[in-house]
Amino acid sequence: MPEAMLYEKLPDSRVRCDTCQWRCTINSGKSGVCRMYQNRNGVLHNLNYAKASSVAADPIEKKPLFHFYPGSLAFSIGGWGCNFHCQHCQNWEISCPPDNEPWQRSQDIPPQMAIDLTKRYHCQGIAWTYNEPTIWFEYTFDSAKLAKENNLYTVYVTNGYITPEALDTIGPYLDAWRVDIKGFSDAFYRDLARVRNWRGILEVAKRAKEKWQMHVEVITNIIPTMNDDDGQLKGIARWIKDELGELTPWHVTRFYPHHNLMHLPATPIATLERAYNIGREAGLKFIYAGNVPGHQSENTVCYSCGKLVVKRFGYDAETVGLDGSRCRFCGAELNFRT
Ligand code: SF4
Repeated sequence: MPEAMLYEKLPDSRVRCDTCQWRCTINSGKSGVCRMYQNRNGVLHNLNYAKASSVAADPIEKKPLFHFYPGSLAFSIGGWGCNFHCQHCQNWEISCPPDNEPWQRSQDIPPQMAIDLTKRYHCQGIAWTYNEPTIWFEYTFDSAKLAKENNLYTVYVTNGYITPEALDTIGPYLDAWRVDIKGFSDAFYRDLARVRNWRGILEVAKRAKEKWQMHVEVITNIIPTMNDDDGQLKGIARWIKDELGELTPWHVTRFYPHHNLMHLPATPIATLERAYNIGREAGLKFIYAGNVPGHQSENTVCYSCGKLVVKRFGYDAETVGLDGSRCRFCGAELNFRT
């Protein structure tokens, strides 16, 4: 059980965790919001190091990352717990587990074993996914370092609520930042995830791109009546265009009833298409409708010459018109890592 990398000691054996933006102040014997960092006599420990809940060799398109090694497999690994408590969580069984359950159902996968499994299953890299990677930060840091030594790519699938200093710690070893921008209002983040200061997510995403040259893709799961209004969708689209650039992919995905939002309907396709049009009007070049296999916006079409460059169906991807990061037909820059 390692000591946390990022925390401050306070008077009376209290500590402040600086791993995510909650910056929990934790008394001795207590844990933070995520329940995965615990203060033991004034020393902060991470409880879930290498304790995996789920492992799979997934298509990178499932993350979803569409402009990052298309068609490759990512060794995907998740732990336990979360620093958010989203009403619609699809993985609530691992993100909100009962107290003792994680340790009974965990599989120990130390960093070297994760690297070995990545190679054995012919994956090109590792993705920390399924639950929030920030809350087993020490494990992802050690694994990411090892992955880069082994020429593997590294991906965070994240809610983006990491602190800037944690990002800067793992930044040299991380290639892709697949971040949720769940909505664009204080009320929405409060109601959905009980988070008040969500704008730090935007600052960190920008920092991932600008300071660490990570490949960034944004996902918004559109939930009827909660974040499907034009105001929030325009806010997200404009922010991506202005701060991350017009070539940043934006995935607008279909919500299906889950967890505490079983009373809401699935997102109508027309809503996703409205979001798509809002993205185009904001100037974004790549908007993808997700969770709708067969929808025409799954494909990547060159914005300059109109030719198909990556053909997709669900998680299947076939590259037909790429030359590195550019369009093979007209040479336009398309923001791909290959
Ligand atoms: S990682 Fe956990 S303990 Fe640390 S600040 Fe975030 S929620 Fe609190």
